Amino acid sequence: DHEQQWSEVDHYVEQKLIPTDPVMQEVLDNNHQADLPPFDVSPVQGQFLQLLIRMSGARRILEIGTLGGYSTIWMARALPTDGRIVTLELDQHHADTARANFELAGVTPQIELRQGDALEQLAWLEEEQVEPFDFIFIDADKPNNPHYLKWALHFSRRGTVIFSDNVIREGEIINRHSSDPRIKGVRTFYDMLADEPRITATAIQTLGSKGYDGFMIGIVNEDVQTPVA
Ligand code: SAM
Repeated sequence: DHEQQWSEVDHYVEQKLIPTDPVMQEVLDNNHQADLPPFDVSPVQGQFLQLLIRMSGARRILEIGTLGGYSTIWMARALPTDGRIVTLELDQHHADTARANFELAGVTPQIELRQGDALEQLAWLEEEQVEPFDFIFIDADKPNNPHYLKWALHFSRRGTVIFSDNVIREGEIINRHSSDPRIKGVRTFYDMLADEPRITATAIQTLGSKGYDGFMIGIVNEDVQTPVA
């Protein structure tokens, strides 16, 4: 069937273009053994994130939703030595697993993992008056996407890239009657982007080993310091 073909093509691309890296495989194995949900980005998507980081020249990254740190490590490996990632994770077990993976991958010095509810952590970052980020990856609980977008804009400067995964959800996002809080969250996220002249964005549908989904990519057009409600 189609799903199987998408997966096989993903694996073909992976074998051709993604350098074999035993550490990245070990990270996935660790996450599996630790019983983490299998929501890590795929290897081809990880490499795509790396390309985005390099193309944008990002040095300061904010990630919302760490899980076992698989995507974090992909991004860390694209950073210059003075680059930093702040990554936010609610679940203690996920955070502990991620920390062990950061050690394994040798990226611990570049990563600040903050365990706790992302909305609380974002408020703390505000309190600490962190500098704007160059690249923001929104990948946590989808019902909160509208809040994360507000915060992302708040922590942006002109040129910041905002990236979000799972914004197509097998096409369900066009179902205006959906009662699924994730669909509702993502639809509100689109509404906000539609009404937000400070962000130029698009969404791309994707097929692959993770099924039928898609990502949003946007760029911030001007310097912003919006008060967050
Ligand atoms: N970025 C990861 C990767 O590709 O390897 C995957 C992240 S996974 C899709 C979403 C993560 O967000 C889960 O680990 C979940 O525990 C976390 N999460 C859910 N709600 C959260 C919240 N309110 N604050 C922070 N993290 C949250």
